Amino acid sequence: MHHVKPPVDPALLEHRNLRGGEFWRAVPAYAEIDEETFLDHIWQGRNSVKTPEELFETIGSTVDPTFIEDAKEGFRRAPMAVRVSPYAIATIDWTQPYEDPIRRQFIPVASKLLPDHPRLTLDSLHEQDDSPVQGLTHRYLDKVLFLPLQTCPVYCRFCTRSYAIGPDTESVDKAALAKTPELWKHAFAYIASRPEIEDVVISGGDVYQLAPKNITLIGESLLAIPHVRRMRFATKGPAVMPMKILTDHAWVDALTGVVEKGRKRGKDVVLHTHFNTPSEITEITRQAMDVLFQRGVVVRNQSVLIRGVNDDPYRMTMLTKRLSWINVHPYYVYMHDLVKGVEDMRTSIQTSVDLEKHVRGTTAGFNTPLFICDAPGGGGKRDVHSYDYYDRENGIAVYSAPSVKPGQSFLYFDPIDTLEPEAQARWAVPSLQDEMIREAVARAGGKVAALA
Ligand SMILES: *Cc1c(COP(=O)(O)O)cnc(C)c1O
Ligand code: SF4
Repeated sequence: MHHVKPPVDPALLEHRNLRGGEFWRAVPAYAEIDEETFLDHIWQGRNSVKTPEELFETIGSTVDPTFIEDAKEGFRRAPMAVRVSPYAIATIDWTQPYEDPIRRQFIPVASKLLPDHPRLTLDSLHEQDDSPVQGLTHRYLDKVLFLPLQTCPVYCRFCTRSYAIGPDTESVDKAALAKTPELWKHAFAYIASRPEIEDVVISGGDVYQLAPKNITLIGESLLAIPHVRRMRFATKGPAVMPMKILTDHAWVDALTGVVEKGRKRGKDVVLHTHFNTPSEITEITRQAMDVLFQRGVVVRNQSVLIRGVNDDPYRMTMLTKRLSWINVHPYYVYMHDLVKGVEDMRTSIQTSVDLEKHVRGTTAGFNTPLFICDAPGGGGKRDVHSYDYYDRENGIAVYSAPSVKPGQSFLYFDPIDTLEPEAQARWAVPSLQDEMIREAVARAGGKVAALA
């Protein structure tokens, strides 16, 4: 017997429904901006919003004045500088600025901030502890993280590297950039001296900010090292300024050049990007990803799990399917790092475990992301499900990483405001904090260096 499937519910194809047309004209400041101007990456960079005054000039008449006041105070208190591209501004639904997932990523509002978790530190991943030379982190045996610059096309409130990223002014940016190619030589020399390194992640900052000649310089320097077999250029750019791929021909040519040189030598060079929510992906994004696809550039995506941005099954599934639709492979969904000033953006380990269950099965397995906790304290990436013990009541997950830091335990803490009132009261007492942590680690059968 054949079983006839009923016609598909059109709602299940919503991921293909990309925003097109001149949608940016709904933003008062961009009402007169034609397509050619909006697609110009130089115009996008020059018109990025960096202050509450610029935000007000751009969207002022569409939002409630109390929102602007709230943002003003949010900008004042934020640990990260603010920089939002016109593209990102235009993808925000300004009729609901508090709920909008793109606003939540880039524009802080004071009224939503929560006190930091008592156990967070600024460099929660201890990237500096595993750094043999400036700008290089060597934590895993065969791969390194190379951070050649400190600037980004936008600044994310939740940045892992808020300890290093985002100087305050344009002039500071330039000074830092001018010095770096000299410093990069030390990183290349270190990589060349370590035969175990096969894989280099080039991040930042953001490689969107690298001049084409520096993409080529870094790419060719690394390709020349015989044991380097894999390279990834990492950028948030496609999510916040996809038009650069369409209009910055020199940059795209430089990237393509490194990919092609790599391919000729049997080496894998790909682009890693960072989409977090479905509304970041528009018709402009699809065109940009088509250009990369046609040039044979593989693009993978790493998302951060963020409260109110992608922490519900609908949006995470939609994001996964929409990325797949534009030929971007969903690779990782990270737990939010324990960094300063972002407690309102974090979620619990349980949220991630539940989401994975919903997403798996909705599309191809190779397009289904891994849900990861990059264990604070330098344990490295762990499958969220692989905790040795999870005290859900107090929000403490204990991980171990035998291949990275054998014999140690690593802790992730759920946001305190998501716990029951009794557990929240316990976290308010410092001596009870230590007790809860010791208990969880003991149950996991492990050791935490920091608590010894
Ligand atoms: C994430 C990361 C890498 C790359 O890890 P993959 O799991 O291969 O994506 C390399 N080094 C450091 C320090 C990292 O944080
Ligand atoms: S683009 Fe990446 S490095 Fe830059 S602020 Fe955002 S998360 Fe941090």
